[in-house]
Amino acid sequence: MKVMKFGGSSLADSNRIRGVAAIVRDAMQDEPVAIVLSAMKGVTDSLISAARSAELGDAGYREALEELRRRHRETIADLIPGAAGTAVITGAMDLIDELADLLHGVELIRECSDRTMDLVLSFGERLNCHTVAAFLSHEGEPAEFVDAREIIVTDTTHGSAVVDYAETYQRTAARLHRCAGVPVITGFIASSEDGFTTTLGRNGSDYTASLVGAAISATSVEIWTDVDGVMSADPRFVEQAFVIPEISLQEAMELSYFGAEVIHPYTMLPAVERDIPLWIKNTLNPTVRGTRISGHPVHHDRPITGLASIGNVALINVEGGGMLGIPGMASRVFGALAKAGVNIIMISQASSEHSICICIRESELERASHVLREELREELDQRRIDQFEEQPGLEIVAVIGANMRGRPGISGRLFSALGSHEVNVLAIAQGSSEMNISFVIDRNDRKRTLNVVHDAFFVEDL
Ligand code: ASP
Ligand code: MG
Repeated sequence: MKVMKFGGSSLADSNRIRGVAAIVRDAMQDEPVAIVLSAMKGVTDSLISAARSAELGDAGYREALEELRRRHRETIADLIPGAAGTAVITGAMDLIDELADLLHGVELIRECSDRTMDLVLSFGERLNCHTVAAFLSHEGEPAEFVDAREIIVTDTTHGSAVVDYAETYQRTAARLHRCAGVPVITGFIASSEDGFTTTLGRNGSDYTASLVGAAISATSVEIWTDVDGVMSADPRFVEQAFVIPEISLQEAMELSYFGAEVIHPYTMLPAVERDIPLWIKNTLNPTVRGTRISGHPVHHDRPITGLASIGNVALINVEGGGMLGIPGMASRVFGALAKAGVNIIMISQASSEHSICICIRESELERASHVLREELREELDQRRIDQFEEQPGLEIVAVIGANMRGRPGISGRLFSALGSHEVNVLAIAQGSSEMNISFVIDRNDRKRTLNVVHDAFFVEDL
């Protein structure tokens, strides 16, 4: 059996749901499938804001409920005409009545705990699976609604619960075994051991799919989205960007850290750990092969796998002769930033120990600068630190790939390409995993830089 997961935008309206049903039917020619679904596009967001309004005593949440009713009613009526559709609509409206009661409760007590929020959010996935299971059955493909709260077991960290793998695998396998038709499983939601509704964190449906795949030793897990796969670079900036045919989980993690996020790779772990291949596929372009993500290194001839960038970053450079050989300098700098809740994205320190260069989000620059000046006041006063520079308006570019490991000449090629196109590099870092070389440039150089690097590694060879 294979697991197919469809995200909210693939299920935005009745037409997109028809498209999904066609993809599922097509897949079923080859093997049985289990499907995992998100809520319809935008529904989770609107449930969150409805609950927040109710909590504030703002009756505006009722409009959100009406909108939810209208949307599900119209979608179902369009998919399943006549009396059959009416019965399905009644089922959906019953669910929304229950949600309305719940939100009214929130309005009365003026409080929406994380636990209540999880219950509120569960209606999005439940409504959508109710609709899609009914539609598939109506189209002659018997389907069965499966509430993931019966199968995915977690702790009680509401909002991003931690999964009990063993229990989940056992329950999932047993439950799906009993399914008469295509299981249509609610993504994202789960329940704690004592039966409270929990959720797996935003975009958690990918995780559900991966867990279900692992539980039933699926032949593959397919994540259906709106893009052709993991790209070699952001196609908005690099016209020549292509779909990476195959990528290792580790590389996917590096890429997604640098903004090329198609899925959150962490969520892929359960499937990948059991050696189940994972695919990224496009519902708008179903015949495209997509990207295969696997647990082991992937062999290909390209020197790198892809590149990505993070925008809106800033550099802080702390420099001075008095820093040399004094232990604890870095620890004080990082400690002060950590205390202020500033996330460090990249660091580089020259071995002369003359300077420490830290890259952070631009939005945190003011706070970071303030705490560092406080922390280092003495050194600054005594001129042991003679420069404290801040530079906003920057971009980090990362070149990623397992093939760089132990292969000389990659950084030479990278920086000579940048040099010959007069791209100024402000800081460089390479992890000792040798899977990633990151460097900082001016934001205005972003597009040019990405193209220069992409050409240097992917085009010149061809
Ligand atoms: N509906 C949930 C969300 O929007 C889960 C998901 O889409 O995967 O975060
Ligand atoms: Mg989503």
